[in-house]
Amino acid sequence: MKRILVTGGAGFLGSHLCEYLLRSGADVVCIDNFFSGSKDNIRHLLDHPYFELIRHDVIHPLFIEVDQIYHLACPASPIHYQHNPIKTVKTNVMGTINMLGLAKRIKARILLASSSEVYGDAEIHPQPESYWGNVNPIGIRSCYDEGKRVAETLMMDYSRQNNVDIRIARIFNTYGPRMAVNDGRVVSNFIVQALRGESLTVYGDGKQTRSFCYVSDLVEVLVQLMNKEGLTNPVNLGNPAECTVLELAKKVLELTGRRPEITFSPLPADDPVRRCPDISLAREKLGWQPKVGLDEGLQKTIAYFQEKLGIKEK
Ligand code: NAD
Ligand code: UDP
Repeated sequence: MKRILVTGGAGFLGSHLCEYLLRSGADVVCIDNFFSGSKDNIRHLLDHPYFELIRHDVIHPLFIEVDQIYHLACPASPIHYQHNPIKTVKTNVMGTINMLGLAKRIKARILLASSSEVYGDAEIHPQPESYWGNVNPIGIRSCYDEGKRVAETLMMDYSRQNNVDIRIARIFNTYGPRMAVNDGRVVSNFIVQALRGESLTVYGDGKQTRSFCYVSDLVEVLVQLMNKEGLTNPVNLGNPAECTVLELAKKVLELTGRRPEITFSPLPADDPVRRCPDISLAREKLGWQPKVGLDEGLQKTIAYFQEKLGIKEK
């Protein structure tokens, strides 16, 4: 039985990952400081005999014995990571150093949840792993974007210098049940607004694009990547079906059956114009591609928020 550490395990992705790993027969230790995660996300796992929860902040060292480390701890939504940007940098830098130090000492394999944000406002489209990115080092997104870039650097240097066994997942926009109601990312915002009968807040003209991956597809490939031998360079993980923010808004209104009301407000600084993963590497090396389309994924996510908000009727 493998002992697996999941940092940020009480967050949106982390909670699904913990569940998946427990189902596959692992012994899971979840650590989280509950900054953007919640005990509600993992409450149903607390009685599981092979699940353990530790309240811990990754900026402090952790002493534990495990076989694998999934390092997800870091707020992912712009409003959360910009709330305390210095802490976001500390989480990415000190947190990743601590987890790499742990991996080195106990000889565990470690996977970093990196991000498409390492590409910044990309000039190449879709983005392949070979693209070095176009990131503003001094803007309001930099704490996260540059934080993830340094985290990747640390992973590569611990691999080269200390032979730590690493995996780097460059995750593109992923959505699904257990995103927090106040998460602030576009999918949860639009669904919550539509269900509450509020108008949808589109930033900018809504022509910027994102490519949305459903959580079950992402979790499945994270585990595949972790267990694949020899794949130490970064791998893009996401759904290459690109859509504009305005198209997403219209789809959410259609699927929730709500009156079409949209308000436009200014685009936040450094908001990337186009984003779409080139997933050739994941296809080739992992034989993976996403299975859940946007309509199906949104329907499942809408059902979750209906339940969460106690809104049953259309
Ligand atoms: P999330 O905010 O729901 O989860 C992050 C979790 O990390 C939360 O439970 C939070 O409390 C915890 N955390 C934050 N700082 C911590 C610290 N210092 N110590 C311990 N725990 C801490 O976000 P998510 O969408 O689940 O993202 C998980 C990971 O995946 C993040 O590293 C994020 O950067 C990465 N990622 C996510 C996406 C996405 O679209 N969901 C895209 C790219 C990368
Ligand atoms: N966005 C929006 N309305 C919202 C939240 C986000 O129009 O209520 C836009 C945002 O400006 C960005 C896109 O949706 O262009 C995706 O934003 P999100 O915060 O989900 O992720 P990221 O920008 O990190 O990809």
